[in-house]
Amino acid sequence: MDYAINNAGTTTVSKLLASFGVEPAGLKAVWVSYPCAIFVTPDHFDDELEVEQATLRTYDGESCMADALLTIIDELRRATECTCTFGHEGGYQMAAIMGDICSKKGKSGDLALMRDLAPVMASQAICGEGRALGRAVNQALDLFGDEIEAHITKKTCPAGACQTFRTFHILVSKCTGCGKCLKACDDDAIMGKPRFVHVVNQRKCTQCGACLKACPEGAVVTAGATKPKTPPKPIPVRRKK
Ligand code: SF4
Ligand code: SF4
Repeated sequence: MDYAINNAGTTTVSKLLASFGVEPAGLKAVWVSYPCAIFVTPDHFDDELEVEQATLRTYDGESCMADALLTIIDELRRATECTCTFGHEGGYQMAAIMGDICSKKGKSGDLALMRDLAPVMASQAICGEGRALGRAVNQALDLFGDEIEAHITKKTCPAGACQTFRTFHILVSKCTGCGKCLKACDDDAIMGKPRFVHVVNQRKCTQCGACLKACPEGAVVTAGATKPKTPPKPIPVRRKK
């Protein structure tokens, strides 16, 4: 959620949140946009900062910090017309790497490359936005490195927010074997027959969500890092009518 800050002067994130009527409980971080360009975690919500015109963006437990960083990188790149090597080319590299990470194409050396490039951008970019971009990447990797890395090494989004990492599953306890999900799936990614618990073939599933909408029993669920236990192939329905 974004909130516009106007002429706040010396303040704290706690005061800013209060002025917007936002409860800090449950937030995992806020981003105060350029020129501050800083992530603030709850343990620093009472630290003073100087801010005039900026945007305050909140992130809760369902926010993906990899996706958050990609958005910030894109915003800072769009905001500058700088063509210097570290600001322009560095920003392009950062956006390409984070774009890959957020679309399941992250590679093992990606974070190391970002860690090498970020401090150089933070000190060598000519424009303020380029330096801010380097600082933001540095800070995000320090604060949310594990969450971002899970997108690469575990191919999962711990917050369950990234669409490409979301998986679909059919719960044994709820499925009646009616077959509506199977009919709705255009990708032939559901196995089943009448009165058998249907099963999603994860290799074929394109995460379109049609089965979720089609199921009248709420048996289709999505999952992030923690997946429900489901059978490998259809089994007779267990649910009592
Ligand atoms: S999400 Fe789409 S592709 Fe995947 S099983 Fe459901 S209907 Fe099929
Ligand atoms: S998952 Fe839902 S729509 Fe699919 S067979 Fe089971 S009950 Fe029917």
